[in-house]
Amino acid sequence: MKDKRFVYLDHAATAVLRAEAREAMLPYLGERFGNPSASYVSARQAQRAVEEARRTVAEVLGCRLSEVVFTSGGTESINAAIKGVAFAQQLAHLGNHVVTSAIEHHAVLHSSQYLERFGFDVTYLPVDACGLVDPAAVAEAVGPRTVLVSIMLANNEVGTIQPMAEIAQAVKARARTLGRRVPLHTDAVQAPCSLDLNVDRLGVDLLSLSAHKFGGPKGAGVLYLRRATPFLSQQSGGGQERQRRAGTENVAGIVGTAVALRLAAAERETYVRHCGRLRDRLVDGIRSAIPGADLSGHPQSRLANNAHITFEGVEADALVAALDAADIAASACTSAVWEPSHVLVAMGVPLARAIGSLRLTVGPENTDEEIDHTLSVLRVVIDRLRAGPSASLRTGAAPAASTS
Ligand code: PLP
Repeated sequence: MKDKRFVYLDHAATAVLRAEAREAMLPYLGERFGNPSASYVSARQAQRAVEEARRTVAEVLGCRLSEVVFTSGGTESINAAIKGVAFAQQLAHLGNHVVTSAIEHHAVLHSSQYLERFGFDVTYLPVDACGLVDPAAVAEAVGPRTVLVSIMLANNEVGTIQPMAEIAQAVKARARTLGRRVPLHTDAVQAPCSLDLNVDRLGVDLLSLSAHKFGGPKGAGVLYLRRATPFLSQQSGGGQERQRRAGTENVAGIVGTAVALRLAAAERETYVRHCGRLRDRLVDGIRSAIPGADLSGHPQSRLANNAHITFEGVEADALVAALDAADIAASACTSAVWEPSHVLVAMGVPLARAIGSLRLTVGPENTDEEIDHTLSVLRVVIDRLRAGPSASLRTGAAPAASTS
């Protein structure tokens, strides 16, 4: 058993930076500091590193080198994808309607709301109780003014995986009958450790990634942009990334992104096996020992590392704070000013249950002992919280504080 007591179960928020990625990045934070747009030795080294990283990313995505755009992270990729495709087509008078789902990350939802201020109509599709989008409903929502469909590959809160290939087929068939091309974007930020990212098998035209979710550095990401997709760059400046993303490249970040993505793809099966087993141990342990605990999301079509549980009679913020006091990092999917998660609301989870939702996301470095330790802490903490604040004072435990 490890002697450390800190247990990190929030890998959906950020993963540990991989040692291989850090090592690969170091020269570009040191002697190979040149600007890739210049033409002396350190600049050429940096340029070669960026192009090598592009080759690695293209191999994982199964795409052309020219279709890989390096960005500052998932949020930037998503903003660029949604606004870039929508505005390009609005300018060309091709339409002003976007289709997305009600359970998307705020990067997608807020980008969509931004478009509404510029005259776009947005359809926010509902999901079922497991968080699944219906491919037929996506196709039905596509009309003669639709310029973009954006559906996430896997949900960051409940872990539900969407049937992306089916969605893509349905959208393409519908677009054909309308005699137009409707680009499909997917927010794949939570997917790289668990799911195949081949863009042709997924059937997507745009795909967004964030490096720190798969063992790369923060502040680095990827936008896949299929050739000939209408796109208006959202960032003005130099001609970097073939005029699609102006600004001097984050060379070290790009190098770290590629190394981490290559490893995530190569180790996907091991990751799914290890994390899936630990996640099941956690969920089974909670279900057998804690009454009034429900798993949210899809029972099978879910990310291998995601356990999203709602606990009856407990407030999520208090639960997360109590776990933190026990050196266990987990996440409450509520906002800082308390509001139930829009994902749980869309799935129809009753408010009384949504209040007590806890996301535990395991990672490669977690162990069985950590899971068992977490289970025994959870049992005590839930009992205490259900008994109320006076009970925690009676037992001498610190009252749980709000995380907001
Ligand atoms: N999309 C999803 C599904 C996410 O989980 C996140 C981050 O939590 C993002 C987008 C935004 O990524 P970043 O914060 O790295 O820009």
